[in-house]
Amino acid sequence: MRKITTTTKLTGVIGANVAKSKSPDMMNAAFERLGLDYYFIPVNVAEPDFADVLGGIAKMNFAGLSVTLPYKIEVLKYLDDIDPLAEVIGAVNAVSIRDGKIKGFNTDGEGFVTGLEVDKNLVVSDHTFVIVGAGGVARAITAVLASRQARHIYVTNRTFAKAQELADSVNTGIFPCCSAVPFDDSLRQVIAASSVLINATNVGMSPADDQCPICPSFLNKDLTLVADVIYSPLQTRFLEAAQQLGCDIMNGQSQLYHQGKIAFKIWTGVEAPAEVMAAAIYDNV
Ligand code: NAP
Repeated sequence: MRKITTTTKLTGVIGANVAKSKSPDMMNAAFERLGLDYYFIPVNVAEPDFADVLGGIAKMNFAGLSVTLPYKIEVLKYLDDIDPLAEVIGAVNAVSIRDGKIKGFNTDGEGFVTGLEVDKNLVVSDHTFVIVGAGGVARAITAVLASRQARHIYVTNRTFAKAQELADSVNTGIFPCCSAVPFDDSLRQVIAASSVLINATNVGMSPADDQCPICPSFLNKDLTLVADVIYSPLQTRFLEAAQQLGCDIMNGQSQLYHQGKIAFKIWTGVEAPAEVMAAAIYDNV
């Protein structure tokens, strides 16, 4: 049994419902492997209590937190400092805590894009992407793809104005490679002119796992890769349709794993033990 003391550096995930998070298993296995006196806990917080809980945590022996729904934007109000990428994205999903000061980062996009590069050997600048969604994760992925100089990124979203705003902010703030496209039948042609298709919405997530973010008939066999940010279920209807066509697919576990490694380094200053973290994510389904 691990001994937790007043000098143990605490870390954790804070959100409205983190009961099913895989992060405690992944992070605690990694701390233990490296013999680091760190411990990771899941923290459920109701919305009216978020500011009080975060303020208390900043005064305790915490080294950092993962921040998840619905607090990725709310947390911006309480930061002392913010990483430039997180500032452009406009959302924070990891914070470091040093001497009571909270600094915000966004690891969603870097985690997802590292998955494309490392797990799928994809060179971002060689590809044209379609991102379905314009919420927090879509913003983060689009920003990081643009920072790697993607050939082009088409952003589509049920609420078109959000896709337009995302494309505009990435074009002016990072690299001019984005356009917003309507969320209608014209998407079929846009996908036909692209090589990587990404679902960055929550459509298809358990328990509504019979849903698909776009009409499956818009997919085609010539796509180099079809990816989903969802990892529950591991194989969404969207990925199932892509696999049936013979496309290579990537589910959201990859993002979870790579962003976990980035957060580990932010909190501890050392490289994460890759195999231990991978085993906690991939073997524990
Ligand atoms: P969010 O900010 O709430 O954005 C949700 C997006 O989904 C918006 O673009 C929204 O469109 C769209 N959407 C929702 N319902 C829809 C519907 N019925 N039809 C069409 N579009 C719909 O959420 P988020 O933080 O970006 O999270 C998105 C997903 O990422 C979640 O499933 C989450 O579990 C997953 N995620 C994965 C990881 C990982 O490590 N793999 C990490 C974080 C999050 P509107 O703008 O029109 O509302």
